[in-house]
Amino acid sequence: MPSHLQNPIFHDETAAREWLEARIWPSGPFCPHCGEAERVTRLHGKAHRPGLLQCNSCREQFTVTVNTVCERSKIPLTKWLMAIYLLNSSKNGVSALQMHRMIGGSYKTAWFMMHRIREAMPKTAHSKSRQKRKPLWPWSNAAAKSHPSMSRT
Ligand SMILES: [Zn+2]
Repeated sequence: MPSHLQNPIFHDETAAREWLEARIWPSGPFCPHCGEAERVTRLHGKAHRPGLLQCNSCREQFTVTVNTVCERSKIPLTKWLMAIYLLNSSKNGVSALQMHRMIGGSYKTAWFMMHRIREAMPKTAHSKSRQKRKPLWPWSNAAAKSHPSMSRT
């Protein structure tokens, strides 16, 4: 396994989630449903799945994966991040079979992840004319649009 794939975000579910949170919520969590950024509470305890937050404005619960390719998926975040990384770092593209071999799990899962990620990827991500490469994470446009810093002053 190449050394960059030894990063804990590809192997530790908590590390993966915290990495994603830092990336999607650079200035703290906000509610993907109503945009509330102040009155959100992190839920702890055994009754809740890790990473769950509650909005005290609209009362909805959410995690960082809402509006991303990983939403409502039973596939671990570590696998999603690895799949996204592989798709982004390969110049010639990755087949579902290659991905299945590299990530493990079933071929069907690899195929499903690949299609979801490709759908969410900005079309420009593979353009050679771009000076700067897109960052690793192709989160959906919906997530960016609902970010308070994009819509409020
Ligand atoms: Zn809300």
